[in-house]
Amino acid sequence: MARPSKDIVGKKFFRLTVLKEVCTGKNPMVLCECECGKKVTVYKHNVIKGNTKSCGCWRADRLRKPESEKKPKKKPVRFVPVYDDDDDEDFRV
Ligand SMILES: [Zn+2]
Repeated sequence: MARPSKDIVGKKFFRLTVLKEVCTGKNPMVLCECECGKKVTVYKHNVIKGNTKSCGCWRADRLRKPESEKKPKKKPVRFVPVYDDDDDEDFRV
């Protein structure tokens, strides 16, 4: 397989539909329309590779979810007195 230089105009990648190619020098870019209606210009290779999946709204969605996965389970810090009553009795004796 060669480099991804196919015509991707009109194709949909995740939330982005490619409207047209925009050539800006060495890095080809494409103008895409996101499912949310926003238009963004992104790197073509990122769209093809799936690095860019939306105008940014997808990432925002994603960031909300893995909150629980991100943090490892924290053990609640508890300060339990190991011996208190016993100690008291010892003192009395
Ligand atoms: Zn969007």
